[in-house]
Amino acid sequence: NQGPKSFLKPANKHSKIKKVIGVISGKGGVGKSLVTSLLAVAMQERGRQAAILDADITGPSIPHIFGVEKNAEVLHQEIIPALTDNKIKVISINLLLADHTDPVVWRGPMIGGAVEQFWTDVCWGDVDYMFVDMPPGTGDVAQTVFQSLPLDGIIVVTSPQDLVGMIVEKAVKMAEMVHIPVLGLVENMAYFTCPSCGEKHAIFGESQVKALSEAYNIPLIAQIPINPALAQACDQGKITDIEGDWLAELVAGLEKI
Ligand code: ADP
Repeated sequence: NQGPKSFLKPANKHSKIKKVIGVISGKGGVGKSLVTSLLAVAMQERGRQAAILDADITGPSIPHIFGVEKNAEVLHQEIIPALTDNKIKVISINLLLADHTDPVVWRGPMIGGAVEQFWTDVCWGDVDYMFVDMPPGTGDVAQTVFQSLPLDGIIVVTSPQDLVGMIVEKAVKMAEMVHIPVLGLVENMAYFTCPSCGEKHAIFGESQVKALSEAYNIPLIAQIPINPALAQACDQGKITDIEGDWLAELVAGLEKI
C-alpha cells in the first residue's frame, strides 16, 4: 500500500500490533464507544489480546465504560497502557489527565498529535486486535486521526435516526481517500424488544441499513437492540459483565482479514 500510510510514524519499539481497526460514526451518541468496547471484549473472550486506543480526545468515554480509574503510567517519555479487569489494554486522554473532568479543548492538529503519540509513545506490547474509538463524524478531526494511524480497516456504526445514507457514503469516501477498506456496518439501537409482550418495536423508525449495505456492497454485520442493560453497564463501568454475543459475526469476520 503506497497510500498515506507511507507517511506514518512507526509504532513504539515495544509494540507488536497485528491489526488496527477503526470504529467510526456520523455523529456522537450513536454507540460508537459501546461498539468499540464490545468488539474488544468479544476478542478478549476468544483468547485474543485486545487493545483500545481512545482517539475520541474531546469526548473520551472508554475508561468510564470499563470502570478504569487508575491513570496510565508514564516512564521516561513512554506510556504504559492501563488494563481493564479482563486485561484489555487501554489508552485514553482521560488516563493521562490529573483530573478526569478537565475539558480537552484542543483543535484538530493537536488532537492528531495526541493520537499519534498514543501510537509512537505507548508501549503496547503484544496486541492481536487494536480497536480505535475514532472521533465522531467525518470532519477534519476524524480525517486527521485517519492519517495518524495505520488502520487495516474500519467499521461504521449507525443508528436508525441518523441520515444513514449520507453517513455511509461519507465514510466510504473517506476510507477510499486513504485506501482503507470498510469492513462492515453495525446498526446500533436498531429496535427494542418489549419485555412484556416480546414484540420488536422500531423506536426510531424502520431501518434503512439493509438496503444500504446491499447498495454499497458492505456487509451489515450486526444489529444491536436498545437494551437498558447495555446503557447501565456502560454507566457503571461494567461492560465486561455484559452477557450476549452481540458482535459474534463481526468478530468472526475480523479474524479472517
Ligand atoms: P458514541 O461513542 O457514539 O458517542 P456511546 O457509545 O458513548 O456513543 O453511547 C451513547 C449513550 O447511549 C451511552 O450512554 C450508552 O450507554 C447508550 N447506548 C448506546 N448503545 C445503546 C444500546 N444499544 N442500548 C442502550 N443504550 C445504549
